[in-house]
Amino acid sequence: MDCIFCKIIAGTIPSNKIYEDEQILAFHDIQPLAAVHALIIPKKHIATMNEVEEQDWYLIGEIHRVAQLIARDLGIAETGYRLVNNCGVEGGQVVYHIHYHLLGGEQLEPLKKAEH
Ligand code: 5GP
Ligand code: ZN
Repeated sequence: MDCIFCKIIAGTIPSNKIYEDEQILAFHDIQPLAAVHALIIPKKHIATMNEVEEQDWYLIGEIHRVAQLIARDLGIAETGYRLVNNCGVEGGQVVYHIHYHLLGGEQLEPLKKAEH
């Protein structure tokens, strides 16, 4: 398996884990873009949002459940946070194992149109 996140799940690449259960893993991003930057992934290898199949939609709900839980544990629930999925090339996805970024712990920039 040539997938960085599958290797993190298998433990062959180390990670700083925040939460783990049978289906979901959350860990700190190696290059944080905010004071708090966690990644939340399903253990099942799904490449992108486009590949989520009918029977896997509950995993997206589970990711949101874990986001709520770890936001509380990391102390950013009350101050607020952003939950982001980058999908595909123009979405800026780099790792092709579906993941959500949980960003917070500081005031985030508003989303804005890219400059050309
Ligand atoms: P994407 O751009 O695909 O939405 O996000 C991929 C994220 O994975 C990036 O924020 C990047 O820093 C993170 N990342 C890439 N490789 C590793 C790794 O080996 N360990 C951890 N913890 N994060 C990684
Ligand atoms: Zn994978």
